[in-house]
Amino acid sequence: MSTLQEKKPATMYENVMQQYNQVANLVGLNENIKKILGITNNEIIVHFPVKMDNGEVKIFTGYRVQHNNALGPYKGGLRYHPTIDVDDAKALAMWMTWKTSLAGLPFGGAKGGIQLDPREHSLAELERITRRFTYALGDNIGPDQDIPAPDVNTNPQTMAWILDTYMSTKSPSSRSHNNHIVTGKPVGSGGLEGRDRATGFGVFLTIKLYLASQGKTLEGKTFIVQGFGNVGQWASQFMVEEGAKLIAVQDAHATLYKEEGIDPITLTEHTQPRKGSIAGFTEAEEIAPDDFFGLECDVLIPAALGNQINQDNALSVKANLIAEGANGPITTEGEEVLLKRGITIIPDILCNSGGVIGSYFEWLQNRHGEIWQLDEVMQKIEKKLTENFKRVEKAVEENEVDWRTAAYIIAIHRIELAYTQRGIFP
Ligand code: GLU
Repeated sequence: MSTLQEKKPATMYENVMQQYNQVANLVGLNENIKKILGITNNEIIVHFPVKMDNGEVKIFTGYRVQHNNALGPYKGGLRYHPTIDVDDAKALAMWMTWKTSLAGLPFGGAKGGIQLDPREHSLAELERITRRFTYALGDNIGPDQDIPAPDVNTNPQTMAWILDTYMSTKSPSSRSHNNHIVTGKPVGSGGLEGRDRATGFGVFLTIKLYLASQGKTLEGKTFIVQGFGNVGQWASQFMVEEGAKLIAVQDAHATLYKEEGIDPITLTEHTQPRKGSIAGFTEAEEIAPDDFFGLECDVLIPAALGNQINQDNALSVKANLIAEGANGPITTEGEEVLLKRGITIIPDILCNSGGVIGSYFEWLQNRHGEIWQLDEVMQKIEKKLTENFKRVEKAVEENEVDWRTAAYIIAIHRIELAYTQRGIFP
């Protein structure tokens, strides 16, 4: 037997812990607070049975990890994916804590989901799975306790099922007007106008603000997008409206390239059927998946899953700017390579925070019993995200660090302050 062991790629959880420990050490975070933020408060795992369309009963596993709630109720999405496990949920929950803190919101961080491939289920099955999962979570979620939202493979419809199940299973006294139990709902059920495009808009806005800080605009810039779900679609649309050119898109099923530019609206229409992907789109050329990251372009937007850019493919990246639409798309080793090569990374906790900022406005709108207009919402998101961007930009200059480190410094400091003021019970 060989004594050599293959080095397993780091998990997302190892990545987030490495990022956290690095910054905690850099800023000399109080040792006790470092311990508290280094663990997740609650890890809820539920197994539950659901009847399939053919009468067979299947057991599903669902997760909700609540990392920290020092600043407010736990907040974060639910993803439906065959590979999600408790470690992924822990990493993603931790990223939510940093994201909401950095964004200046009164929320903590959580994340969860169900281990399944939605493409293998009918809409009716997905509805029963979602409702039974919500029931299994019980009082672990709630409008002032833990507020789920869409994430990978979940959408406003999923949130509407959660809302309805929650309202239907609570006693009348506790359920009245509690539609802020979830955000990202359909507009007809208390959802926020603009929440659908909020994350993609934020990705576009941070890119635009970064280029502006360099005296540049988006006009004529080329960009490539990995993942063409909600985030990738909307970000592409806003980028193209501002004069940039989408030259390649990759998803789990295909990689498309077109030098003259792909129209994001036509491509979005192509993906619309529920089980759709970009595959089969005839207005662009299909290229080998491995050629994607090495394409000549100005901006790269990873907007799919975590751990996509590693130390190997980081060497081939041609873009000068990477905007993290996804959570954790770059491994720690990959990031080292990119930073050494002088590539700027707008980190996930800033870049894709438009989504949770939109969620905050939805939660507020519901609590106040109001209905806001689209232009009003977009202005609010733009204002908040621009302020946050400027604060990170300032921290980059003051501390002479990269953008992720600067964002972490601000995020961790805000939570540290809350603990310092309150102390530890009892
Ligand atoms: N799932 C999104 C994220 O990762 C949104 C979370 C939310 O709105 O609560 O930021």
